[in-house]
Amino acid sequence: MSIAINLNDIKSSLPEQVTLVAVSKTKPISDLKEAYEAGQRIFGENKIQEMTDKYEEMPKDIEWHMIGHVQTNKVKYMAPYVSLIHGVDSFKLLKEINKQALKNNRIIDCLLQIHIAEEETKFGLDKKELEEILSSEEFKNFKNIKIVGLMGMATFTENQNQIKKEFLHLKSIFNTLQNQFETSNLKLKILSMGMSGDYQLAISCGSTMVRIGSSIFGHRK
Ligand SMILES: *Cc1c(COP(=O)(O)O)cnc(C)c1O
Repeated sequence: MSIAINLNDIKSSLPEQVTLVAVSKTKPISDLKEAYEAGQRIFGENKIQEMTDKYEEMPKDIEWHMIGHVQTNKVKYMAPYVSLIHGVDSFKLLKEINKQALKNNRIIDCLLQIHIAEEETKFGLDKKELEEILSSEEFKNFKNIKIVGLMGMATFTENQNQIKKEFLHLKSIFNTLQNQFETSNLKLKILSMGMSGDYQLAISCGSTMVRIGSSIFGHRK
């Protein structure tokens, strides 16, 4: 199966309000070009160095999404061009993104990553940390970031009921925050959840953005 065929199959199955992020991490430029030629303009990467190398080589009308865990000291490398940072999971990171965005005279869109999985290993904020950030005075004064939504990853399990429960939990946090907080730098529109194995379920639970890698590009080594 070719990348273009996979991409078109997935795109034609997505509801209109759902945005597809093509997760191209570890894949060569030739694969990204094939997806680009098939019309894809949003790519997701999980390493800043790799994303920056690809950004430099690929056409400039692409939106680059950072979907991985972000180290504070590397924000500066993507600040000039990144379109959306999915994995914002600390106040310290948000502060650094704001600082680097200001240096580049930009406003950078961010998603707050929420911990919904059972595993300890998955990154993300819990409800208390989330509320602490959003209600802090310092947050309200961050003028160069915009929180446009939430992101979450379900537990890696075959148990569909558990995955569904976790997605619905994230959706309910999304709904609550949408009503509870509204500042000039926070307007929740995007709910980023769902990957190759669970994106249909995620969409049925309210996802508006799916991050799909292996179903487009094939398995990673
Ligand atoms: C790798 C990755 C994906 C894509 O995973 P697939 O199972 O290949 O679709 C989605 N989201 C995040 C955060 C990832 O790291």
